[in-house]
Amino acid sequence: MKNLIYLDYQASTPVAPQVLETLNEAYKTLFGNPSSLHRTGLQAKAALDKSRRQIARFFGVEPKAIHFTSGATEANNLVIKGLAAGRKSGHVVTIATEHSSVLAPIEYLAANGFRSTLLPVDREGRLDLGLLEASLEPDTFLISAMMVNNETGVIHPIAKIAEIARRKGVLFHCDATQGVANLRIKPRELGIDLMSASGHKIYGPKGVGILYVDLDRVDRSKVGGLLHGGPQEQGMRAGTENLPAICGLATAFQLLEESLEKDREEALAKKKCFLECLAEVPFERNGSNDASAPSVLNLRIKGITSSSLMRNLDHLQFSTGSACSASLPSHVLTAMGVSPEQVQESFRVGFGRFTSLEEVQQAAGEIVGYVKNVLK
Ligand code: PMP
Repeated sequence: MKNLIYLDYQASTPVAPQVLETLNEAYKTLFGNPSSLHRTGLQAKAALDKSRRQIARFFGVEPKAIHFTSGATEANNLVIKGLAAGRKSGHVVTIATEHSSVLAPIEYLAANGFRSTLLPVDREGRLDLGLLEASLEPDTFLISAMMVNNETGVIHPIAKIAEIARRKGVLFHCDATQGVANLRIKPRELGIDLMSASGHKIYGPKGVGILYVDLDRVDRSKVGGLLHGGPQEQGMRAGTENLPAICGLATAFQLLEESLEKDREEALAKKKCFLECLAEVPFERNGSNDASAPSVLNLRIKGITSSSLMRNLDHLQFSTGSACSASLPSHVLTAMGVSPEQVQESFRVGFGRFTSLEEVQQAAGEIVGYVKNVLK
């Protein structure tokens, strides 16, 4: 049996050892309910507040702007359905290549009296800002645009989108789930009003994430409200906080604070190495070569389906696209004008902090060997 080589960091990252230590410690010592008023509860509340402060510092925002959720799916739903809940109708704008946790709540709104525009992208997955501006209507109340696409790594021009949103008086939500590991994000400088992120893409635990809300711009009482219950998370998200995971998330952010630039440089070197090793076979790239995250590649090789590649090299843990929609043909590639046949040939490879250059070389070498054998 060959060693598994994990190349699917966009689906999920391994948990950093320091995060595991924090989780272990928190499960042992911080079992109190942060809402309880006895000493054990107050100790839990202090850990909750500290985690919020640490994460807020990472983003350069005030702690009360950070709300803990069960992940980016919940954060996206809180924004989209929450903002709609206070109205009977209205218009929302998003991009056709968004994650299903943005598209599905918008479809839900569209089935319930709202209107939506899904902006197209070009062959490289890029957005036309002129089209975005032209799509806004008098009752548009939200633009939701992701920072980095999870399938292709395409980076959208977030500051420019935010500028249009502000000028037009529309709130701007950014799903930054795939951006956090690679880009230094300062939501206030970028002009983001609401932002979602997730623990399991940054070497933290699964089932925990954040929703950032710019409290100078957004009335918090108009967001959230999916779960009715206690007053946790400033009333935005009822339910006892997942404190161990939240502490683990704070550790993941602390590690990222120290290693983001190093992670990025190393990911770039791994990507370059992979592309060089693969040069022996006729591959093409889906997505932009210029505006792209360093840790992900979406490729296709003519005449080789990604399912045959995955079946025959099953120790290489890469994917055909989003893990959340793995059984469906990619809506992202389809929106980019990639033909159904080419979609079948497309696969995503992602590198991360724990991927070694040797693994990158070995994986690329094995793909080359397989492809040459099939195409000979
Ligand atoms: N948005 C994007 C861009 C993602 O990649 C993901 C995870 N695949 C999500 C949202 C959902 O995140 P979570 O798993 O934390 O709900």
